Amino acid sequence: MNFESLHNHTKDSDGAQTHLEVLAAAEKLGYSVVAFTDHDLVIRPDRLELLRAYKGPVKWISGIEISSGAPSEVVEGGTLHVLGLFVDPTNPELVRHSQELEQSRLVRMEHFVTQLQGLGFTITIEDCLAQADESPVGSPHIVNAIASHPENQAVMDKLLEQMRLAGETDPEVKKRYDYMIKEGERQYPYVLFMKHGSFIPMPKAPSFGTLLDFDKTVAIIRGAGGVAILAHWFFNRETVSKELLEHLVEQKRIDGLETEVVNMISKRDISRDKEFLQKLARTYDLVETIGSDGHDEKDMAEFARSSAAEESIGQTELLITHNKPSLEWSNLAS
Ligand SMILES: [Zn+2]
Ligand SMILES: [Zn+2]
Repeated sequence: MNFESLHNHTKDSDGAQTHLEVLAAAEKLGYSVVAFTDHDLVIRPDRLELLRAYKGPVKWISGIEISSGAPSEVVEGGTLHVLGLFVDPTNPELVRHSQELEQSRLVRMEHFVTQLQGLGFTITIEDCLAQADESPVGSPHIVNAIASHPENQAVMDKLLEQMRLAGETDPEVKKRYDYMIKEGERQYPYVLFMKHGSFIPMPKAPSFGTLLDFDKTVAIIRGAGGVAILAHWFFNRETVSKELLEHLVEQKRIDGLETEVVNMISKRDISRDKEFLQKLARTYDLVETIGSDGHDEKDMAEFARSSAAEESIGQTELLITHNKPSLEWSNLAS
């Protein structure tokens, strides 16, 4: 077994395992390659030292998953995730951007909390920080913080009912409402109020300026020696349409496309989107990557059991041949 996951998270962002725990699980589950792509975070120097000392069979790659703004063509904004694989984690510009993003997460959280309190939810900044447990705070932590107060269920029910009623006269709202119900409870907050495009729109946080426009994000990754991959486009379709994606790919404004992720929470049928992404990549000679987007050992096991794991074999070598990144920030050369 030689599974290769080019998208994994650790405790340093919103994962449950340390870097070495990820490698230990990888060994156990039959992975041969893992890329560390924490949200907006490069591998810290002390972690890098531990990774350099690791002498096991699994190959690791330094990476990052940067939260980015939309391409300049998109007027109404939105966010994207861009993976940077083989990045130099000491690159000053990348490190500086990563620090700015961390700072902006805090400002954003305060903004969210104020908005949510305005909607009637019981939630505090401390709740969110407690959920994040020393990781940078993200939307899932805020969602968990809401869920941690039983009295918030009534507020949630009220909003659900509001949206259902609005859907009776607005087919667009009804479509999104039905989608939300189909996707299950985890999607409720996002469709209802957590996003800029939600039923009750979340006003943009003042710090959103910190999110660079898509091309600038890609430039930072490339500047740090990385290969820039558009992560899980199928989760961000509302930001970039199929047509725009093809345009970006055609203009080589991205180096590759992630065609599939497999973990416990993002379970849904993406087979049609995957075909579309593969076709784009092949038409315009871009690399395709597959990752677990794993946040814990269960996710890693889920990936290992999937058909994607089988397909992932050999992708790292293809990427290296195609994009020729320096292998310095990995153990692939040793
Ligand atoms: Zn992501
Ligand atoms: Zn991810």
